[in-house]
Amino acid sequence: MHPDLSAQLRITTADPVRWIVAGRLLDAKNRRVLKNAHLVYDRNQILHAGVEAPDAAMLNGKTTADLTLPEFTALPGLIEGHSHTFLEGAELASEKRADYQKQDPETLFQKARPRLHMLARMGIISMRDGGDKDQVGLRLSRLTAGKDCPPFSAQVFSPGAGIYRQGRYGSFFGKPLEDYADIDSCVQGRIAEGADHIKIVPTGIINFAKGQVVSKPQFSVEEIQRFRQSSHARNRHLMAHASGDVGVGHAIDGGVDTVEHGFFITDDQLAKMRDRNISWVPTFSPVQEQVDHADIMGWTGETLDNLKTILANHATSLRKALALGVNVLVGSDSGSCGVGHGSGLFYEMELLENAGMPALDILCQATHGNNLALTNRQPYGSLEKGFKPRFIVTKHNPLETVRNLQGDRWVVFDGAAESSATVSLENL
Ligand SMILES: [Zn+2]
Repeated sequence: MHPDLSAQLRITTADPVRWIVAGRLLDAKNRRVLKNAHLVYDRNQILHAGVEAPDAAMLNGKTTADLTLPEFTALPGLIEGHSHTFLEGAELASEKRADYQKQDPETLFQKARPRLHMLARMGIISMRDGGDKDQVGLRLSRLTAGKDCPPFSAQVFSPGAGIYRQGRYGSFFGKPLEDYADIDSCVQGRIAEGADHIKIVPTGIINFAKGQVVSKPQFSVEEIQRFRQSSHARNRHLMAHASGDVGVGHAIDGGVDTVEHGFFITDDQLAKMRDRNISWVPTFSPVQEQVDHADIMGWTGETLDNLKTILANHATSLRKALALGVNVLVGSDSGSCGVGHGSGLFYEMELLENAGMPALDILCQATHGNNLALTNRQPYGSLEKGFKPRFIVTKHNPLETVRNLQGDRWVVFDGAAESSATVSLENL
């Protein structure tokens, strides 16, 4: 450990510009790693990032770098592509999970809010939420969007309540379409409440005992097309929970922007997604957690075999998607059973790597790629001039394996700097 690294990375009033040289710098936008690169930043922005020496004019009189870290990697802060910020993901006991969700909206909000500071200190600077029915995500979105955003806090993008068919799957994080007269007024209603994107639930979930999605899709292709038109007319992307080949097919033909989960997706569907520029967020974690904790979850015999087969097939689909050139994004479904906030994203990256996605691709997609498709092109997710100084510095090279990101690291966030070792993993 460099004991005083956070002090050396931090901007102070007396010394408002930092100049560091990192052995490796991830240029996520151009999908490459720069060697011995300079990174100059102040409290508000990155002033320079690249192998060229910085202009003397920006250095506030400095002639040598503040910090030379030949063994370290600097990379942009991570963006969680799929979270349910209102839930405590790490909890496995079903009664405790059910009790947690019964709390009133204000309590859920007060419990979710400190997660944003913990996540930022872990190196996760932003999250695209997958929905909650208690306005927690919308309130966090408002809180973190403006100039009153608490310091060192991950920004949240929320769809408000997911939209599902009355009587079908989705009630714990959504509200039914039938609350409104039609699809367009439903989308309009969500946006009036502050939704950053629109989340629909076109399918049910996997029946683990049967090893497939047995319920019929919730929305027709035509209905999903209407969701698309209404969302795009108001500049919002359409996020779709979909598993099972029939329902995934509806989502793709309906023209959603992102397919979430996508278990049982076919190779033909992946090719269509590439052609139509639909992104895929495979979320291995929630199903992998069921296998990892099969004893607690009560899965044995055929059901456990089904789960393992589903994951193996999902990994095969991931490799196919990458070979085809599908835009695969990184989101863990954190908040769902066993998937803790923060730890879930690191685990998802590890599972993507185990399934065959190269570390460079995972890191670029979890930063720049997620920002392009999911968080409305914020000035972060890439180390470039003019972007916000929100990045990770680590001695454990994540380009060798993304697992290395779980080691000690320092996070710089708008001029402040903290060690990730200070984060307690309680209540995530
Ligand atoms: Zn979800």
